Amino acid sequence: MEYHCPNCKSENIQKVEIIYKSGTSNTSISTSAYIPGSWNHKTGFTSGRTVYGGGVSSSQTLLAKRFAPPSRRIPRVGLSLLMMVVIFCTIVWCGVLVYVTTQFGHHMDPRLNTMEIHQRVKKDIIQMIEWLIIPIVISIFCQKRIKVTQQWNLTVYPQLYDEWLKSWVCHKCGYVFQNDSE
Ligand SMILES: [Zn+2]
Repeated sequence: MEYHCPNCKSENIQKVEIIYKSGTSNTSISTSAYIPGSWNHKTGFTSGRTVYGGGVSSSQTLLAKRFAPPSRRIPRVGLSLLMMVVIFCTIVWCGVLVYVTTQFGHHMDPRLNTMEIHQRVKKDIIQMIEWLIIPIVISIFCQKRIKVTQQWNLTVYPQLYDEWLKSWVCHKCGYVFQNDSE
């Protein structure tokens, strides 16, 4: 393989992966700071004190941020789930409505005959189907979008990650290039 930058021929090149890994660290930090004393006209100089602090910090150098690997896309399933809940609730609601109309229609309105009850049930079911068209269409659209995202993760993402693994950067001219021979 070539050990120099194809742009400026400098040998000061480094693998992007190494830059990323060496520039990303999870460190537990403990800090202390000394606060100097101050002048007080009665007591003279008060003594200074030291304050302590600390925590865990994940830090990345700017260079590491710039050369971060590509990330997978997260499928957005929220709207799809919502539509499924809407479809489910609509069917349950319609089922209850049909059940109540067929079982108790005569009690609620004694003038209704069996044929009229059947017509009511038919009307309810048609209305339900009409109403369901909207969430079903949105749901199909969501599923397609999720499929596209999953497909991207399966086909495009590995390529991008592979390109990232093969990427080198020149510290002299900043040129980023791929080295396929390794
Ligand atoms: Zn260069």
